[in-house]
Amino acid sequence: MKIFSKEQIYEGDKITTERQQISSTDLMERAATQIFNWIHMRMQGAQVPIHVFCGIGNNGGDGLVLARHLILDGYNVKTYVVNCSDKRSKDFLINYDRIKNVTKEWPTLLKCAEDFPEINPNDIIVDAVFGIGLNRPIDDWVKGLFMHFRASKAFTLSIDIPSGLFPDKAVEDEDAVVWAGYTLSFASPKLVFFLPETAKYTVQWEVLDIGLDQEFLQTTQTEVELIGKHEVLPNYIPRDKFSHKGQFGHALIIGGSYGKMGAVTLASRATLSAGAGLVSAYIPKCGYTVLQSAFPEAMVITDADEEKITSISFEIKPTVIAFGIGVGTDAKTLNAFEAFLKTNKTPLVIDADGINLLSKKKALLKLLPVETVLTPHPKELERLIGKWKNDFDKLKKAKAFSKKYNVILLIKGANTITLFEDKLYVNTTGNPGLSTAGSGDVLTGIITGLISQGYHPVVAAIFGVYLHGKSADIAVEDFGYQSLIATHVIEYLGEAYLDLFK
Ligand code: ADP
Ligand code: ADP
Ligand code: MG
Repeated sequence: MKIFSKEQIYEGDKITTERQQISSTDLMERAATQIFNWIHMRMQGAQVPIHVFCGIGNNGGDGLVLARHLILDGYNVKTYVVNCSDKRSKDFLINYDRIKNVTKEWPTLLKCAEDFPEINPNDIIVDAVFGIGLNRPIDDWVKGLFMHFRASKAFTLSIDIPSGLFPDKAVEDEDAVVWAGYTLSFASPKLVFFLPETAKYTVQWEVLDIGLDQEFLQTTQTEVELIGKHEVLPNYIPRDKFSHKGQFGHALIIGGSYGKMGAVTLASRATLSAGAGLVSAYIPKCGYTVLQSAFPEAMVITDADEEKITSISFEIKPTVIAFGIGVGTDAKTLNAFEAFLKTNKTPLVIDADGINLLSKKKALLKLLPVETVLTPHPKELERLIGKWKNDFDKLKKAKAFSKKYNVILLIKGANTITLFEDKLYVNTTGNPGLSTAGSGDVLTGIITGLISQGYHPVVAAIFGVYLHGKSADIAVEDFGYQSLIATHVIEYLGEAYLDLFK
């Protein structure tokens, strides 16, 4: 699913009105009617008090249209206008007048805290105060109103975006934002619904179809894409009857140090389970027996050193190499990594200490082959790109980094983002069960296994993150968040593949 920018949303509205020869007032009517239908389907005329708070821009206009329909259908509605100093929008004014057609009561004008109505916990709040047009910090008394919403504990339904949330800016004061139970969005969900610092402002969201111009929806290129089954399926490479393992590549996993052989075992297993034809692990000598017995399907190559990677040399010709899991950051390992990078031409996936080594010696970044996949967790990412002030700053820094070094960069966590060439692919699978040791090692293995069998590294990263999360989503049904461990994610990978066709 595409995530449109604020400018694109305004453009989409404009194109729609032009091509369908309707006015912006008509489009507002259509959008707010969809909201009315959504509420009406669920409330079926119930007489719970509904407080509709309208701003004076177009979001407020939506609120007024909704209030009119609710009143017309006999709901118990109170309408308020949050009176900010700005100019009232044209469509707000038209709908302010139209409300007179259904009631004798003008909306209550709110100007300060003394005007706030009593809201009971079982009431419903509709938040139509600010939409994506918010462009400066809100007044203190409006913040007070939003705090009043929260304190009431009433269910809050936001229109388009929780008021106070900027579509493209960080939140500075969490009391100055509406905390929505549900948001009904137009055109597309907003990026802020998926970022760690702002996702909490709406528990759930849904996009309503307001009949925007189809050509606009289909042909507009967006910077952000939401990744679900529909997006990954077209990239799936089917297997034919006469296939053989030679077609699916030979992946090499270079990693491990004394006490950290489990991570390499997990990654190697995930690589093969994702579909690589062959997997070899390159590890320090001490891990030989561990790996061979824990994962007999892998071949093992050992380093000259007993406890860590000190030189990287092998006879095989791998299709893809994953480097870094459990390698530590010893100076000898760093030297071996540098020497390896100077001659290596094979596609790379770099994780964990591999990333820490790159952060330690940034000059190595220039030696990475183009489209190397980097899979840092947040702390590793910080070492790599520097501290960020907020999520938007993180995205900016990550984008600049990925561009500078021509790498595919992951921002891991809930809704992992894959970043490449100014595009953001936001994943929708996965759950807190993944907050467990080794789950990242499994992800690295999955991405490596996908590249091995012929997926382009960008596709492998996006698809790998999707499958990893999907597998965890299926596994969590059996294990719950607390008991899910990384091994389960590998074991349920097959289910994640099969789910693509359900
Ligand atoms: P639009 O009308 O652009 O669709 P909104 O419904 O979000 O967007 O309305 C934004 C309206 O609120 C505009 O009139 C804008 O000038 C005004 N506005 C923006 N930021 C603030 C603010 N912090 N406080 C009060 N009014 C604001
Ligand atoms: P490790 O190094 O122990 O293997 P990482 O921290 O590198 O683990 O990776 C953790 C993985 O789990 C990442 O893919 C991350 O996106 C995922 N993950 C962690 N917490 C969550 C969460 N709350 N929701 C979804 N995915 C999560
Ligand atoms: Mg990790």
